[in-house]
Amino acid sequence: MKLNKSKELFLEAQKHIPGGVNSPVRAFKNIDGNPIFFQAAKGPYLTDADGNQFIDYIGSWGPMILGHSNPIILNAIKSQLELGTSYGAPTAIETDLAALIKSQYNIDKLRMVNSGTEATMSCIRVARGATQRDKIVKFTGCYHGHVDSLLVKAGSGVSTFGLPDSPGIPASLAEHTASLEYNNIEEINDFMQTHGESVAAIIVEPIAGNMGYIPGHDDFLLALRTACDKYGSILIFDEVMSGFRVALGGAQQLYGITPDLTAFGKVIGGGLPVGAFGGKAELMNMLAPEGPIYQAGTLSGNPLAMAAGSALLNELIKENPYRSLEIMANQLLTGMAEIFQSKSIPFVYGASGGMFGFFIAEEMPANFEDVSKTDSELFKRVYLGCLEEGVYFAPSKFEAGFISTTHVERVIDETLAKVSKGLERL
Ligand SMILES: *Cc1c(COP(=O)(O)O)cnc(C)c1O
Repeated sequence: MKLNKSKELFLEAQKHIPGGVNSPVRAFKNIDGNPIFFQAAKGPYLTDADGNQFIDYIGSWGPMILGHSNPIILNAIKSQLELGTSYGAPTAIETDLAALIKSQYNIDKLRMVNSGTEATMSCIRVARGATQRDKIVKFTGCYHGHVDSLLVKAGSGVSTFGLPDSPGIPASLAEHTASLEYNNIEEINDFMQTHGESVAAIIVEPIAGNMGYIPGHDDFLLALRTACDKYGSILIFDEVMSGFRVALGGAQQLYGITPDLTAFGKVIGGGLPVGAFGGKAELMNMLAPEGPIYQAGTLSGNPLAMAAGSALLNELIKENPYRSLEIMANQLLTGMAEIFQSKSIPFVYGASGGMFGFFIAEEMPANFEDVSKTDSELFKRVYLGCLEEGVYFAPSKFEAGFISTTHVERVIDETLAKVSKGLERL
């Protein structure tokens, strides 16, 4: 496969943009590849600047759950476009999107923001403001955006570069954040027994997607709920990735656990930049202008983004595609397992709705350390083999995969044929 144009564009981009990308994972550093520059997308397919076609299993990291360029979403954006792009003032459509989200979650009030990072950052502020405590507990390998307080042992792009922390975050701030082991009940219980009274919030990805795909264990998530109730801490579910991805009601629906605050992003914007956070009225009413906790955004609730998000959520609520997404994901993964097995490469996998993951490992990892121990070199070679055949998986063993309703049986079969050829290259 020729990537001439992508290579040229990457060189040019590096002159103007740090590392040539606006988000680090896109640089393909982890797999020593050249990032691919795209120019169009339709259904499950991406077309790059050289005209190569790829079957996409990233789906813009989640939002493309109905496939790329879905006409219903494009039309919703076009209709709003005729009416203007932004007013910096209230519109009915913000309420529509808030009501759509609320219809599927145990949430009283929501506020719109422009990214997942803003959503988790705002949750942390509400939790600290409401409890008048400073300490935050997170879990190693969970990524909650590039929020100062949360960029402590975060997974994803951060792990990819081997930097557990980032310069630019004051030690005096990071010291308020404890990062514990994911799925380790004993550790969180011990920690809370000592520090519970000063913990403002526990934040968690209930189904982690930023250290690869690792579902939280039922009893672990339940232990978090119990600990927060016992010590008066706020439980924050970061469902930026899992919200409307694993089920309409997100991971909290699958586990039957209601957090105090939830952060959203990705899917709810239908491919435009949106985040949101919400929860109990008593917490959300503490936000300005109703209460003293400040939070704001010039483009928050942007009408184009609200139109795209509402169109997508309406469609998802109508179709409830999660069961069939999971069936197709499993079809892909069982097919891949056979191919890997024939090459004597260990392969484990899992899927929840339209989110999935696989590891080159004997056993499904339960935490970040488990994933770190899996074979990075083999992952890289497998990845590049598949890419060469036109299968676009996430370019790191610390990322999840995403499937859309346009990944029908024919596309899965096409993928498996390509994966098989890709592995022949090893
Ligand atoms: C993507 C992601 C974020 C950050 O969202 P951005 O829109 O990239 O700021 C936060 N939390 C989780 C779980 C995510 O997957």
